[in-house]
Amino acid sequence: IVSKLPQVGTTIFTTMSQLAAECGALNLSQGFPDFDGPQTLREAVCRHVIAGHNQYAPMIGLPALREQVAAKIERCYGRRLDETREVTITPGATEAIFCAVQALVQPGDEVIVFDPCYDSYEPAVQLAGGRCVHVPLSLPNFAIDWERLEAAINSRTRLIILNSPHNPSGALISRAELDLLAALIRDYDIHLISDEVYEHLVYDGAPHASVLAHEELYARAFVVSSFGKTYHVTGWKTGYVVAPPDLTDELRKVHQFVTFCGITPLQWALADYMSAHPEHVDELPAFYQSKRDLFCDLLKGSRFAFTPTPGTYFQLVDYSAIRDDLSDVEMAEWLTREHGVASIPVSVFYQEPPQDLRLLRFCFAKREDTLRQAAEKLCRV
Ligand code: PMP
Ligand code: GLN
Repeated sequence: IVSKLPQVGTTIFTTMSQLAAECGALNLSQGFPDFDGPQTLREAVCRHVIAGHNQYAPMIGLPALREQVAAKIERCYGRRLDETREVTITPGATEAIFCAVQALVQPGDEVIVFDPCYDSYEPAVQLAGGRCVHVPLSLPNFAIDWERLEAAINSRTRLIILNSPHNPSGALISRAELDLLAALIRDYDIHLISDEVYEHLVYDGAPHASVLAHEELYARAFVVSSFGKTYHVTGWKTGYVVAPPDLTDELRKVHQFVTFCGITPLQWALADYMSAHPEHVDELPAFYQSKRDLFCDLLKGSRFAFTPTPGTYFQLVDYSAIRDDLSDVEMAEWLTREHGVASIPVSVFYQEPPQDLRLLRFCFAKREDTLRQAAEKLCRV
């Protein structure tokens, strides 16, 4: 068989989680909590399964859940949506991104992504016959390099994929940057996918500048989020995508033939929980900030260098003072095998990683005792 994705192997998340399991290491690699989502949310799934909510959901998602998503968005970002024409529930943010890419990208089109770049974007673009143009974020803060972005835009550019808060760096795109972007693409036929799965994981009082709150950008955007991150249930693979009606129509043409719909009892449970607990999203920043602060405080006793992450549940650390001789892929493997803590090397998210990149990503969506154990091991390195 002639591979359609010849350069794609097994994802780093699978590789590192497997290595962690093999070595009995603490798994701070793949991004998922080691604690459960709210008990009432989990009980609601059981209730709906027993109540017989087990057949196909509507293709566009359960009305009650779309209404809750629209209510949350109005509360958080001040945008009033038509939940029938603009909100679609999907089996995970990954499916939403895949469908949006297939709906937009034609053979020969260019798609701008920022490196380091989440690993599901490029294969989706390639399967659509498009080509990713990688624009590196500038170090050390992983900010958009506006000159390089401008230079990458041309008449073939069909799509730009934004991700804020950014995986793996945690960097945030500001409202002022969204304004700059709007001005930059105003005269082009360019659409956006805004991957905002970590929208509620922002720290130190910083606001999340959502594309949903930006009139001009929203008119050409698919905005994607994930209940998995927000409700600590990554294994539920349930997300949503919000877009103006004309874009939503095209997305749904793809979505109905990729999976048709999301999982019914999960959607019922999420709708119940969101309606009973609108405060959940408001409490998330403090919840994860205390984990970030604990992890960072404990790491001060180590030889890793870092700046506390502004968003996401990932903390980058520089290990050059410890093993400058090792690449980050080697370092991640060594740390897992020799010190019992698994992480994600950052270079794998680059088309061309900077030569001297010595960064690892740790996921701090973990119980306090896990973070303490991990930090104790890391302080001994
Ligand atoms: N985008 C980013 C930036 C992510 O980190 C993740 C996953 N964790 C996803 C998308 C996918 O989300 P989901 O699990 O809902 O498909
Ligand atoms: N998004 C998660 C991370 O960045 C991983 C999701 C996956 O395993 N595909 O760690």
